[in-house]
Amino acid sequence: MNLKKIYSFAVTVALLSVIFTGCGNNQTVGQAGDEIPVQETTQATTEEPTTEPVPEDKRVHVIAAGDNLIHYSVYKNAEANAYGQDGVNYDFKPIYENVKYLVESADVAVLNQETIISESNQVRGADGGQLIFNSPPEVADAVIDLGFDVFTMANNHLLDMGAYGLEESINFWNKKADENNLTVLGAYLNEEDSENIRIREVNGVKIAFLAYAEHINGFSIPADSSLRVIMNYEEDVIERQIKKANEMADAVIVSAHWGVEDTHEVSDDRIELANKMVNWGADVILGCHTHTAETMEWIPRDDGTRGFVYYSMGNFVCAQTDNFNLVGEMPDFDIVVDGVTGETRLEDVGAIPTIVHYDDGSFSNLRVYPYSKYTPELAGSHGLPYAYPAGSYPQFSWDIVNSIIENNIPEEFRKMDK
Ligand SMILES: [Zn+2]
Repeated sequence: MNLKKIYSFAVTVALLSVIFTGCGNNQTVGQAGDEIPVQETTQATTEEPTTEPVPEDKRVHVIAAGDNLIHYSVYKNAEANAYGQDGVNYDFKPIYENVKYLVESADVAVLNQETIISESNQVRGADGGQLIFNSPPEVADAVIDLGFDVFTMANNHLLDMGAYGLEESINFWNKKADENNLTVLGAYLNEEDSENIRIREVNGVKIAFLAYAEHINGFSIPADSSLRVIMNYEEDVIERQIKKANEMADAVIVSAHWGVEDTHEVSDDRIELANKMVNWGADVILGCHTHTAETMEWIPRDDGTRGFVYYSMGNFVCAQTDNFNLVGEMPDFDIVVDGVTGETRLEDVGAIPTIVHYDDGSFSNLRVYPYSKYTPELAGSHGLPYAYPAGSYPQFSWDIVNSIIENNIPEEFRKMDK
């Protein structure tokens, strides 16, 4: 029986009951008339006339981090951390432990893995001045344990160990993805895989991920290799993929590896590409590569909606020796799908400043801190002024940390207490 029928039945029986009792008819009829319609009437009136509950919004909390840049001194720290642990060569976990609560609190956490993991090659970390990297597999275990579940690979260090090293690294991460329900993207085994748009569904919200790189340090994928990395200049491919992702998912997050290292300047070509990406359907652009925290802004679309770009998140972890390389930013925002309209919007958009700290000139006790856990005392005892080889900006202090943040993260987006 549908609700309308129940309702009219109940009303009819109730009326009959009133008529019968009003007529002073015998108790049997009156009792039966009281019992049945009272239940039915109660049920019917509570469900009428507002039977449709208002659908709730769906919400996903997202956190991201910039370059996980495993310099020589970073993995030497992990080696020192492993000292005394049976069968453990590298323990990276202490390096990240101060930000674990942030990553764990997110429904989706995205990391730019700057260095490849090629197990048949020697571990390398840019010692001796050559910027060639290859990281121990234990770094993957640490960042997975930390709570990251999306890993972007599109960056300039992909071919540091040649095409075979890249293929090995992709296979390594694909295996980790299968074992741990991760999303890995940005470097692909072949063309077909590069067209397989990665989507994660979290809290009922579908989020698509795409990742592109500006260059591969002057190298390119060999002609006889099937490996595929989509470059920023392939705008026709990027446009097609963003539009397709936008149809497949509620939200589209794009990782863009771009910009000039060691500057905070956002060039016109990046602003232009960011505007194109947002108008094609990107909701959030996570910029990386410059090793500096850069500004961020809303980008309006022609239809009145808007997307958001973080031009560069800076370093998540590194062992660099210029002060501006040691302050990064972790994007922090909510993706909300409106329960009534189905439209997607961003809320609570901002960035948590982070600081890479080490105790002395040999980078001891290297750790990443969120701003809220860092202190003027720690800043005053930073090992940067004694680090070797020295950078051009080796000064470090609480004031320097604050001025880097104030100059690069607009006040309305600063999440200093988180
Ligand atoms: Zn880079």
